[in-house]
Amino acid sequence: MAEDQTVPEARKEQVVPEARKEQGPFEAVNQFFDEAADLVHLKDEFYDVLKTSYREIAVQVPVRTDDGGLRVFKGYRVQHNGARGPYKGGIRYHPSADLDEVRALASLMTWKTALMDLPFGGAKGGIECDPTGMSAREIESMTRRFTLSISHVLGERRDIPAPDVNTNAQVMAWMMDAYSSRYGYTPAIVTGKPLDLGGAPGREAATGRGCVYVLEAAAKRWDVNLGEATVAIQGFGNVGSWAARELHERGIKVVAVSDVSGAVYNAKGLDITALLGWAGSYRPLHDVEGCDKITNEELLELDCDVLIPAALGEVINRGNADAIRAGIIIEAANHPTTPDADKVLSDKGVRIVADILANAGGVTGSYFEWAMNIQQFRWKETQFNTELQDAMVKAFDACASFSEKRGVSLRQAAFAIGIERVARAARLRGYV
Ligand code: NAD
Repeated sequence: MAEDQTVPEARKEQVVPEARKEQGPFEAVNQFFDEAADLVHLKDEFYDVLKTSYREIAVQVPVRTDDGGLRVFKGYRVQHNGARGPYKGGIRYHPSADLDEVRALASLMTWKTALMDLPFGGAKGGIECDPTGMSAREIESMTRRFTLSISHVLGERRDIPAPDVNTNAQVMAWMMDAYSSRYGYTPAIVTGKPLDLGGAPGREAATGRGCVYVLEAAAKRWDVNLGEATVAIQGFGNVGSWAARELHERGIKVVAVSDVSGAVYNAKGLDITALLGWAGSYRPLHDVEGCDKITNEELLELDCDVLIPAALGEVINRGNADAIRAGIIIEAANHPTTPDADKVLSDKGVRIVADILANAGGVTGSYFEWAMNIQQFRWKETQFNTELQDAMVKAFDACASFSEKRGVSLRQAAFAIGIERVARAARLRGYV
């Protein structure tokens, strides 16, 4: 979402993804869970505990609109599993953020925090709304009302939200203020905050930067020369734009990027610095001059070496999996690939770095911020980035070793490592 008070032009036509036809997101995530749980011989009695949410809250969020009307949105917070620590996960504002999607995303957070060995469980929240058509005042009012409605299950040692699609540091500031107004000053109640309110230098970039650290680790392991590689990125918001910037700074050629308005393409490599300036003023990429225009669908099917989906879920599905030509997919977005598509791509030999590994830089950076807040200190960004890189490379290597040893995909490896850790913690705590 926009950092300032204007409605971003580039986000005006957001739509619910088309591909929710194969199966619901929660069922899809649990299909990945089942495959990995079998691999680690998870005891039958664990399945129900680990596959279902601990708590799901649905609240009404009434908002007085600028023209004096009243709109009532549906808001959700799903706490999936807290065996390893406080629930942790972002807040999404999007028309598709229904209970099933939020539940799926919460489950992914459980496996992601465990894979990264962070002292957190998994959660997610969302409001079914299209914030691109709302004023900043309406978004603030909605955010405050939602926060107060779920505040009894939040807490710096209980559940800690963060930004996700269409939410940002400003939204986190409103959440923190609303929570603090009821419970006292509590900066650690959310992460991804503005620096002035206890945010961590490096957190904003952490998800996109983490994707690039993982890509570098993968290229090293698989002997891929990134100097000669071409990369296409879907989504040019927080995650996509930071990934593009980091790649560009390393001299790695980004040939296509997109936002909801469409994609720009240049086979010789895009001028990412210019595009960041353009998008930074909330102008749609579709209006950029001097580049070829392609659709978001065409971007996914480009003849490139690396594809980074960094927008919404289920964009790689049964309908287009066969047409994907990239050899490596770095899943910056959450759940961008359906199980059917995953199978098609794996059979083709495409190497997929799964979401719970690829985009884990976000929650890892959030962990750093939270730890700094509760101990009242702050790292410099250089230290933040060094620690982030170590964590990402370590997690990638663990997944790659598991995958090579057991002859399974990186996704199965990532889920298996996460599931084993959560199961151990659940058993030790006496959940089962
Ligand atoms: P954002 O709101 O900042 O950006 C989303 C981008 O996707 C925008 O460029 C938007 O124009 C584009 N987009 C929206 N609808 C689209 C469509 N239908 N087709 C193509 N592009 C579309 O969100 P973000 O924080 O960058 O999150 C992007 C993805 O990364 C999400 O899946 C999110 O769950 C995941 N993620 C984010 C974080 C984080 O720290 N922000 C952490 C982990 C994972």
